[in-house]
Amino acid sequence: RAKAEGRGTFRFFERAMDEAVHRKQRLRVGLRTALDRGELDLHFQPLVEIRTGEVTCLEALLRWRHPDWGMISPAEFIPVAEEAGQIMRMGEWALRTACWEASRWPDAVRVAVNLSPVQFRNPGLVQVVAGALADSGLATGRLELEITESILLQEDQSNLTILRELSRLGVRIALDDFGTGFSSLAYLLRFPFDKIKIDRSFVTGLPARKEAKAVIRAVVSMSRSLGLSVTAEGVETAEQLDALRQLGCQDAQGYLFSRPVPAAEVGALIDKLRRSDGLVA
Ligand code: C2E
Ligand code: MG
Ligand code: MG
Ligand code: MG
Repeated sequence: RAKAEGRGTFRFFERAMDEAVHRKQRLRVGLRTALDRGELDLHFQPLVEIRTGEVTCLEALLRWRHPDWGMISPAEFIPVAEEAGQIMRMGEWALRTACWEASRWPDAVRVAVNLSPVQFRNPGLVQVVAGALADSGLATGRLELEITESILLQEDQSNLTILRELSRLGVRIALDDFGTGFSSLAYLLRFPFDKIKIDRSFVTGLPARKEAKAVIRAVVSMSRSLGLSVTAEGVETAEQLDALRQLGCQDAQGYLFSRPVPAAEVGALIDKLRRSDGLVA
């Protein structure tokens, strides 16, 4: 009987595995046509200057409305797109669309676009970025590119060279999800960043956890002395925002201010946040 149960459990796992593999396969196939069928969209989430409540930037976040399964999280489909070789085309589309949308926002507001490490394998990446800026007419300094530590972890120096070229173009480089990787601070500081985004996992610990506070305080102080700006990700409560203000953090991003919204709602959102000093919920 135990044996029979064991077999049952095994079959259950086998079926779950089959389903996961099958779903991934369907996602991979669906991604090939998602762009051409107009299933992809960009939503935008504001970064707010804590001191003034002004919107300094909006981060572009991909959305995929799957014809059968509805909204699929980028946390699920980006890795599939990276594996299936679709991320170059999708990433370029996101970049071009984001620059074009931002060209219609107030001049003081920047746009941030996430870059996949896989996009750095494209020797034409710098040209792609320059092209998106030229075609949209967006001022170079209004584009911010978000990258993660993982692109710096390879021996080969080519990613650093590309980052330097992007930086020389005049776009700003932000280090995303800071604190989740394994690189040392000293190592990170060899790269030309303009901004550090502290990962949500630290912000979640505010205001209670001493360790979270200590890390944020250290990052803020280091960034200050290096002339980098600091954004806290995933701010959901007024208590977290208060703690961040006391810690000297510059900008905040999170559901406390706004969820990511469709492009058509950005103008109204900027006005609403301005009227309420950033403190809507
Ligand atoms: P990310 O770049 O770190 O983006 C922040 C994620 O946190 C977004 O999830 C955002 O909706 C979510 N978020 C923002 N505020 C809060 C909050 O207060 N609470 C909580 N719980 N979550 C919050 P999203 O949109 O699902 O994107 C997930 C990840 O997918 C992004 O993480 C980014 O790594 C990737 N991604 C999204 N769009 C693109 C893209 O165009 N290109 C690339 N390469 N990656 C993208
Ligand atoms: Mg990001
Ligand atoms: Mg992030
Ligand atoms: Mg993140």
